[in-house]
Amino acid sequence: MAEGRKIPVGILGATGAVGQRFVQLLVDHPWFELTALAASERSAGRPYGEACQWVIPGDPPYQVREHLVRPLVPDLPAKIVFSAVPADVAREIEPQFAQRGYLVCSNASAFRNVADIPLLIPELNADHLAMVERQRVQRGWPGLLVTSPNCTITGVAMALKPLDAAFGVRKVFMTSMQAISGAGYPGVSALDITDNVIPYIAGEEEKFQQELQKLLGHVSEGVLTPADLVVSAHANRVAVLDGHTVSLSVGFEQRPTPDDAIAVLRAYRPALASAGLPSSPKHLIRVMSEPDRPQPRRDRDAEGGMALSVGRIRPCPILDLRMTTVIHNTLRGAASGAVLNAELLVAAGYAEA
Ligand code: NAP
Repeated sequence: MAEGRKIPVGILGATGAVGQRFVQLLVDHPWFELTALAASERSAGRPYGEACQWVIPGDPPYQVREHLVRPLVPDLPAKIVFSAVPADVAREIEPQFAQRGYLVCSNASAFRNVADIPLLIPELNADHLAMVERQRVQRGWPGLLVTSPNCTITGVAMALKPLDAAFGVRKVFMTSMQAISGAGYPGVSALDITDNVIPYIAGEEEKFQQELQKLLGHVSEGVLTPADLVVSAHANRVAVLDGHTVSLSVGFEQRPTPDDAIAVLRAYRPALASAGLPSSPKHLIRVMSEPDRPQPRRDRDAEGGMALSVGRIRPCPILDLRMTTVIHNTLRGAASGAVLNAELLVAAGYAEA
């Protein structure tokens, strides 16, 4: 990143649960200057502090309280835009921004499984950024579009990427316990979630296999070959504010012992391309040995909400290994993950054109 001027960035869906996390992360970012907040017609034209129902700890930062929210049209004073709008809105608006030259870092699911759109976790698959060259040629975009994965599968992929490289992941059986904030604001009704578990999250289970195959896939000459694995998933909403927990059983091509897996996870070092990015944590994977960890309330904030916590690694009588993961869904699983993607784009020189 060149010394001097910060890169102007905007947020699409700035008033939502993820948008607020973006605001929090970007008001004081070393590379980026937050110059535009956009949301629906309901919010456009109003001061941010008034339009936004602040749902995360603290208050809206003073720097943005009086900032007027803009409508969601591609004329924002920014080079990079972070998208945190519902998928149907993203499907329409994100290509328009890329067409107008913006670098779009999306949290929405609309384009995650489209062949020429990278799905990125920079410490795992920074090389997938090569897909962007074909995307720009094929679509004639002066800008580009990259996406962040589903918040639940983000944690699973962080645990399985090193294990896949060492032992070949073939089968994944997973039960998620997903936090309320994953449903946005106002999200799930208090009468539904208090004292309860809801064993259904619309559209969620279908995303897990496709996204995990893409995240663990290989890119050659800009073309992705998905990983050869199968996922069976149960998605549940639980009465936790932040932090998605997943219980996993995993089948491998070469069967590791728990100690083999622990050694591989502890030794994992992220791809070089992500080294030195401001949002990348010092320690990506925390392998926990306590019998009752990880837990969302105690472990979601590790490394500023950017680390994966994994524990309870033990044999599985049906597949090969069992384990539990915890990830912060609105930080690593959403806003911070997308900010890290933008940092990767900058480090790769895409913000200079
Ligand atoms: P949310 O709280 O419902 O916020 C949605 C945002 O989009 C608000 O700023 C809203 O503006 C804006 N918006 C809604 N409809 C619009 C329209 N027709 N035109 C323009 N703007 C519109 O949702 P969220 O939880 O932040 O999620 C945002 C996106 O991130 C979704 O695609 C979601 O799937 C994805 N995501 C969420 C999480 C999570 O943990 N929450 C994790 C990963 C990915 P107004 O306030 O003006 O209505």
